[in-house]
Amino acid sequence: MELATGGAVNQMSILVLNAGSSTLKYALFDDAAKTELAGGVIDWHGSDSSATFHFRTSGTEDSHTLVGSPDYRMAVNEILDRLTANGFDKPVTAVGHRIVHGGPAFNQAVLIDDRVREELEQISTLAPLHNPPALAAVEAARKVFPDAVHIAVFDTAFYSALPRREVVYPLPYQWFEEYGIRRYGFHGISHAYCAKRAAEILEREDDSNLRLIICHLGNGCSATAVRGEQPVATTMGFTPLEGLMMGTRSGSIDPGILLHLMEQHHMKRDHLDEILNRQSGLLGISGVSSDFREVEQSANAGHKRASLAIEMFATRIRSTIGAFAVTLGGIDALIFTAGIGEHSRTLRSRVCAGLQSLNVLLDEDKNQERSADSDIAQVDSTARILVIRTREEQDIAHAAQRLREESS
Ligand code: ADP
Repeated sequence: MELATGGAVNQMSILVLNAGSSTLKYALFDDAAKTELAGGVIDWHGSDSSATFHFRTSGTEDSHTLVGSPDYRMAVNEILDRLTANGFDKPVTAVGHRIVHGGPAFNQAVLIDDRVREELEQISTLAPLHNPPALAAVEAARKVFPDAVHIAVFDTAFYSALPRREVVYPLPYQWFEEYGIRRYGFHGISHAYCAKRAAEILEREDDSNLRLIICHLGNGCSATAVRGEQPVATTMGFTPLEGLMMGTRSGSIDPGILLHLMEQHHMKRDHLDEILNRQSGLLGISGVSSDFREVEQSANAGHKRASLAIEMFATRIRSTIGAFAVTLGGIDALIFTAGIGEHSRTLRSRVCAGLQSLNVLLDEDKNQERSADSDIAQVDSTARILVIRTREEQDIAHAAQRLREESS
């Protein structure tokens, strides 16, 4: 996205916060939520004592070290100071917060009041890794911006339209009814944005039969089958652990493995949690890194387990595309997005190498040249292949703007 400069177009009115376990991403938008004015990330890199503060605005980009333990109040104050120092000094009137898990209660963006805050606290048990940092950021931002409206936008909300056959697991039905064991689906803000953007690029906005398969491949990875902007199937489930292989998460495995490890190797819940969420995926197989670029570099240098990791990563994406193509009864467009999807030509090439049987044909020259939001399929491919730059922050800013207007 083009960033506007401060000064004349300085409309410091919508701030978006996206808190992860060791990062806080932020973006400042103009009053109409159309233009990103500034943004960046505070990254603690898992450290208890310092963080890197990245800041970018039109034409400038820099970073410096922040000393201190992870503290969202301090972080939000730093963001405010930095924006003000750069001339973005109009009041923030809305803050949009990305919340990973909306549980069964939230199927659309909401204004955060004390009641919503309490409900979100309760849902935290469903997403212990993801929701607590976001709630801490909400708390901090409500103190730093007491006069702004605060809005929660949920990753799970898009999937409230999933068909029931996809929501219920093949377990005793009482578990669904009594314990709430069900598929929620995640990365919904990104998948919803990409579905809309793909329809725009293909000029098929009003086509309720448009069949899309969206691969969001970042540190977390998920794929979603969409028909006419409605989700039909998705890979992430009750938690963001299910589905595709990821940077440090295993994705789907045989649950019998866990029973075996508990019984024969006396592994405890916390240990398994750590391994499945933080020590598996690209990192677990390669032993090199969870970062795709680093795994790719090692593979290119002849590291066998790094090559295996990439082969497994690509294979799982490809088989999911095959399954979703059948679920949808065909594909009109295959979409790659997020860090790996948008930037790795080799990964796109590997994934598409197995899709000739579906007549989904990648144009290698276009794949090498690609720019964001472009079509890289061969002219005679049955389906378009799109690279889309996901804009989760902008979608959150739009929701914040809409709810601010409705509430005033
Ligand atoms: P997050 O899920 O934290 O938002 P991103 O969407 O930024 O993560 O994706 C991070 C992943 O994207 C990392 O594995 C990184 O290696 C990969 N990535 C970023 N740029 C490139 C690139 N040019 N080529 C290959 N992989 C890349």
